[in-house]
Formats: sequence, C-alpha cells, structure tokens
Amino acid sequence: MAGRLGSPIGALFSPQIPLGLLRGLLTTGSLPRLEEGAFRFVSEPGSQPEAYGSSIIAPENAAPEEMRHERRHIEQSEALGPAYLPIMLASMLANYEQRPLEREAFQHEQPSHELLKKGPAGPGGLLEALLRLRLGE
Ligand SMILES: [Zn+2]
Repeated sequence: MAGRLGSPIGALFSPQIPLGLLRGLLTTGSLPRLEEGAFRFVSEPGSQPEAYGSSIIAPENAAPEEMRHERRHIEQSEALGPAYLPIMLASMLANYEQRPLEREAFQHEQPSHELLKKGPAGPGGLLEALLRLRLGE
C-alpha cells in the first residue's frame, strides 16, 4: 500500500530502502523519526529535500509542496520495488524535466507545474503513464 513502510521482505529486494537509511544517517548524522509512513531525517536549513527508498532527507521547515513531492518518490519506490533503483539511475541520463519519476512526482505535487508543459518524451512517457495508473491521480 502506498505511503506505508514496505515489508521487511520487500526491503531485502529493494536496495533503495537500506541505501536511503544509510544516506540519511551519513548526511544528517542523526537518527530518523517516523513521519507519515516514512523515515524522516532533518537536514541543514536551506538544503534541497531528497527521498530515497523509505527515507526523506529535508530541512525541518521544507515547504509542504516539496514534502508532497518527496513523499511521492517514496510511493513510487514502493510501487516499483526492486525496479525503482535501475529506473531512477537510467532516467538520470535524461534531462531533469524529462525524467519520468520526476515528472510523475511533479504531476502529483502540482499538475500545472511549469516542468510538465513540454510533455514526456519516448519510453519515459510510457513509464510516467504506467506509474500514474498504478499510483492513482
Ligand atoms: Zn523529485
């Protein structure tokens, strides 16, 4: 179910979950708290919010729309399971505005977002559509 921590068995097959925890620990030097079904690490004020696996690393005062965006990446991670990391890494070859995971997260955050006006390109558009079908909205 989206928005909840994955099962321990799922975590074994989804390397982004332990990698996200490790990144959060190394980035912030502190333990996370549980917040809306995710591990929440608090980063330096003004730093860019990030999400990996089931972890969100963001400043305490991150904007609600930024947090909505990062929580969507967590839902994507849960929906894609072990396929998330290879898809995320492969999509880094594309420009930011054409990355299907980013576009889908922006669609969830703010459907009229400037980044979405160009339209998806190539196979990324298909993945974006499949993610929307799987996650809803
Ligand atoms: Zn994003």
